[in-house]
Amino acid sequence: MIVVGGGHAGLEAALAASRRGAHVQLVTLDSTRVGEMSCNPAVGGLGKGHLVREVDALDGVLGRIADASGIQFRLLNRRKGPAVRGPRAQCDRDLFKRSAQAFLATSDVNVIEGEVVSLLIIQGCIRGVLLGAGTQLSARAVVLTTGTFLGGVVHIGEQSWSAGRAGEAAADQLSSQMREAAFGIGRLKTGTPPRLVASSIDWDRLEKQPGDNDACFLSFETRAVSEDQVPCHITYTAPKVHDVIRDNLRRSAMHAGAISGLGPRYCPSIEDKISRFADKDSHQIFLEPEGLRSDLVYPNGISTSLPADVQEAFVREIPGLEHALIHRPGYAIEYDFVDPRSLTHELRHREVEGLFLAGQINGTTGYEEAAAQGVLAGANAAARALDAEPLRIDRATGYLGVMVDDLVTMGVTEPYRMFTSRAEYRLRLRIDNADERLTGIGRSVGLVGDERWVQHQVKMEKLERGRTVLHAMSVTPKEAVDQGIAVRMDGVRRDGFALLSLRDVSFAELRTLEPELSAVAPEIAELLEIEAGYVAYLGRQADDIARLQAEEAQALSPDISYEELSGLSSELRSKLTVQRPATVAAARRIEGMTPAALLLVLSANKSAKRDRPSAQSA
Ligand code: FAD
Repeated sequence: MIVVGGGHAGLEAALAASRRGAHVQLVTLDSTRVGEMSCNPAVGGLGKGHLVREVDALDGVLGRIADASGIQFRLLNRRKGPAVRGPRAQCDRDLFKRSAQAFLATSDVNVIEGEVVSLLIIQGCIRGVLLGAGTQLSARAVVLTTGTFLGGVVHIGEQSWSAGRAGEAAADQLSSQMREAAFGIGRLKTGTPPRLVASSIDWDRLEKQPGDNDACFLSFETRAVSEDQVPCHITYTAPKVHDVIRDNLRRSAMHAGAISGLGPRYCPSIEDKISRFADKDSHQIFLEPEGLRSDLVYPNGISTSLPADVQEAFVREIPGLEHALIHRPGYAIEYDFVDPRSLTHELRHREVEGLFLAGQINGTTGYEEAAAQGVLAGANAAARALDAEPLRIDRATGYLGVMVDDLVTMGVTEPYRMFTSRAEYRLRLRIDNADERLTGIGRSVGLVGDERWVQHQVKMEKLERGRTVLHAMSVTPKEAVDQGIAVRMDGVRRDGFALLSLRDVSFAELRTLEPELSAVAPEIAELLEIEAGYVAYLGRQADDIARLQAEEAQALSPDISYEELSGLSSELRSKLTVQRPATVAAARRIEGMTPAALLLVLSANKSAKRDRPSAQSA
């Protein structure tokens, strides 16, 4: 099989397919840029950190690469509940790339440098790809992960030119073929800030933001930091910065109307922030080092497509940056994406057999979103190549399931990024239990190697032993109070989980009540504490999940004629006709679906299923 693209989606797709046993050829424009971080040198964060843990649980590499190149680790939302905490690593850009390339070099993936100019599709079935040099590569399955390169156009102020990313050519021929073949192409945009020269910044005047002393890693396998740790710094825009930007808004590519694609609302450019939030006279900027041996700094918060001279003028008005030199101006990039509603939950194209898509091409943004889709698409392309079982992950099992379901049922109107609020079962989908949720599933389809599997089983056994001891405890209120644990004197005996779920009761306190708990290792005790905190909620959620899974399983007949179904709004009719949801749950999640419309669909489903056998026998 073939993977097109050596970005975060392509790397994971190729490695996942190879772990499953497929013979993989990875075609990419420049093999020295495999694993390139196109934008900020950081991995993880809220929602995104969950995805990285899930990639890791499936034996993907993003978490290990981020940890190996991490120069600052922070656990975001530390003061909130464990379900919404997000581990984040500031990475050394060069070390990150080197580590990514090392994983590829030690795998069985065959890397080919070249440009895929067209997909070879015969009678609705992928047969391979054609390279710019005229070479044809044949395959039963192809994964497309072209990032921002398809029809990419870079904008800085009044200037724009074709490019896939700063300094790299766009993939225009493939874009033309896919447009002609009516692939349902749309345009999106994203942007990046200017890069600053570190030695030109007045660091002493800035607020320092150190990392955590007790690093929370992105991979379950990492035990210690490998690199020196450095702080980030914080500064703010000031009224004069806003004046410069406001005076030059008409020169911004985005505001002058040069860009048609929509950008991420939650990650706006500095000119967007200033025009949308006109009442705010200051915005926070994080100055993030690009690496231990790099003299470059990434100013997170001022992504822009203003002309270079305006970027210089406004940067110099920012406290601490009065003498800052710009190494490379910020820019916006507009690119093609494929409507993800043309994909199944396996990230397989509905019309072209054997074609899979992952990453930014599906309308997402971010390394984490790309990597997670890469694992899924790679695993499923390998399944097609090897005639093996596909991999599907539902919304109750992982953020990966949430993202894919959102994409393929609702599509995107702006670049999609993960947030914890997108997951209805977020109390269950935590960073601490991503391995419990997914490593077994990964192992069952051949994604998880022996080494990780053995370690995982040892950990699961320890957890199970801890649970058994906690469940076997039976403590009266008096016994608990005698040990300083405040419980109601209601005469009810409690097990260890019930005690642990009480506010301010720690695992250590229970050890006096049950000496066997002393044998539980601290890292396992911590997991049990988190689990106990959610026990009551998880019980209730389990019923919802069972209902969801039953619904997921309830298939909708492909014979339903939505065009003729009366009572539906024309908008819903056309959405149902285009998307043809495979299940009741997928139909329910279509944007604008109402309970009344769903009843019509259910009744049409019944009729279609009733009519089917007689039609066949006629
Ligand atoms: P990429 O990492 O872009 O990789 C695409 C790969 O495909 C490359 O290796 C390329 O060589 C290869 N390729 C493309 N076409 C062909 C072809 N025809 N033949 C062979 N190989 C091909 N994410 C955020 O989370 N926050 C941000 O603020 C943010 N800002 C960004 C700003 C910019 C300017 C850019 C470019 C990206 C930004 N991103 C941001 C997005 C982030 O970089 C991507 O989401 C992520 O890298 C996508 O991974 P991917 O694997 O889909 O694509």
